[in-house]
Amino acid sequence: MARIIILGAGVAGHTAALHAKRMLGNENEIIVISPNSKYNWIPSNIWVGVGRMSAEQVTFPLKPVYEKKGIIFHQAFAQEIHPEGDSKTRSGYVQVTYTDPSHNAEVAKIEYDFLVNATGPKLNFSATPGLGPDGHTVSVCTYDHAEQAAKSLANVISVMKSGKRQAIVVGVGHGTCTCEGAAFEYAFNVEHEVRLAGVRDLAEITYITNEYELGDFGVGGLIFSQQGFQTSSKMWTESLFRERGIRAILGAHVEKVEPNEIHYELVDGTKDILKFDFAMLLPPFRGVDLKAIDKNGVDISDQIFASSGFMKVDADYSGKPYEEWTASDWPKTYRNSIYPNIFAVGIAFAPPHQISKPRKSPNGTLIAPSPPRTGMPSGIMGKTAIMSIRELIKNGANAHVSSASMSDMGAACVASAGSGLRRGSAASMTMYPVVPDHIKYPNTGRSEAETFGEIGLAGHWIKLLLHYLFIYKAKGRFGWFMIPE
Ligand SMILES: Cc1cc2nc3c(=O)[nH]c(=O)nc-3n(C[C@H](O)[C@H](O)[C@H](O)COP(=O)(O)OP(=O)(O)OC[C@H]3O[C@@H](n4cnc5c(N)ncnc54)[C@H](O)[C@@H]3O)c2cc1C
Repeated sequence: MARIIILGAGVAGHTAALHAKRMLGNENEIIVISPNSKYNWIPSNIWVGVGRMSAEQVTFPLKPVYEKKGIIFHQAFAQEIHPEGDSKTRSGYVQVTYTDPSHNAEVAKIEYDFLVNATGPKLNFSATPGLGPDGHTVSVCTYDHAEQAAKSLANVISVMKSGKRQAIVVGVGHGTCTCEGAAFEYAFNVEHEVRLAGVRDLAEITYITNEYELGDFGVGGLIFSQQGFQTSSKMWTESLFRERGIRAILGAHVEKVEPNEIHYELVDGTKDILKFDFAMLLPPFRGVDLKAIDKNGVDISDQIFASSGFMKVDADYSGKPYEEWTASDWPKTYRNSIYPNIFAVGIAFAPPHQISKPRKSPNGTLIAPSPPRTGMPSGIMGKTAIMSIRELIKNGANAHVSSASMSDMGAACVASAGSGLRRGSAASMTMYPVVPDHIKYPNTGRSEAETFGEIGLAGHWIKLLLHYLFIYKAKGRFGWFMIPE
């Protein structure tokens, strides 16, 4: 019998846990360690953030699902990985601190044969002074942040209803943020809400982003065909912004946020201040606070984790110049190269380099969107790691492990604007592959047949359908595994 520990119960970890139980059955032990008692379908936090969905609609308790499936759940934070064990324990173990009230912050050691790190991001608000719910801006990264954002938005809408103009800012709160697609989607939902409330003329909406061009989304933008014509995500997004009257500030690094003031620097080195009454700015991400310790008690975190705090896997981390990277630098198996019984999937793995061209201002400030690791790739990586573990349990050293490179994987992004069945709309994009492969696709780096965009109500229906479908799947209901990641 092997024991598989999965750290994190988000898209990657929870998908891995359900597949692990399905593929590895009762002969092996599946353990999930995660600090939150609830699962959160994060993409729908956008709708919570405008008051169109409740936190209950985007979450559910994990314990009953795991109990039903026979998966052991420890509601706890993983704090240290000991991949070699220690003087008392020969196998690898994880040191955890419980968040479950019944364990009252107890510390425990849990041994493993295989470890899947799916701890997602640390929301690094502290990288920008004044950023985030403890500062002066709101966020939609968690369901409780999103609930708070909805309340603040309702406040500015009621101020506008009294006839007073309000400045609304949506975007990213640091030069190295990722997830621009989510900020873009939230901007359009806010614009939709303000219009529905009948106060659009009193709202000055600004989108502030680290993207050098609109439509970059941290993937270097897309070239796709729409109704038979070739277009770019830049042109497409610019026209959407123009149509909705949203001003964009591009190539920006937010330096600090003060009450009602965002201080930012642009790629050309100029600095300015943007006034706001409501601001939703996403934080930069880094790896969660996990340490790695060897059997002698020496901290080996710098060997296991990149400086970003994300875990190193089978990628090329030589740090070559941006112009020299290729699609093959991206990880395929998500196995740690020093400890091959450890995998890191979803946002938890360290990307080898930026996909969008990184830029520095004349003052030396890095303004470089980080590569997104969205839901679909995160789920696929979680499943892939479990398929590899199944092989490793069966065939040991001769096992043929599975691979799923982001340079061989597609992603879909549906940015909704409003959640009503008749009034909603969405900008839908699919790309293949996520990481451009300029050898396979010399023209644009991506397959022109499988990269496209569409605007309209149908995309909104798809987004709504995906919400229900993915929550059904995450609850492990009948036939869940037939729903693709
Ligand atoms: C507002 C927003 C909107 C988005 N919209 C979309 C979208 O429309 N489409 C899309 O594809 N993607 C979207 N994304 C991205 C998507 O949410 C991520 O790709 C996905 O959540 C990544 O999955 P993950 O499992 O790696 O991380 P997460 O889902 O963040 O899960 C991480 C898990 O690890 C746990 N954890 C944290 N620290 C520890 C620790 N020390 N020990 C143990 N567990 C720990 C967390 O509690 C959580 O359960 C959006 C993201 C945001 C923020």
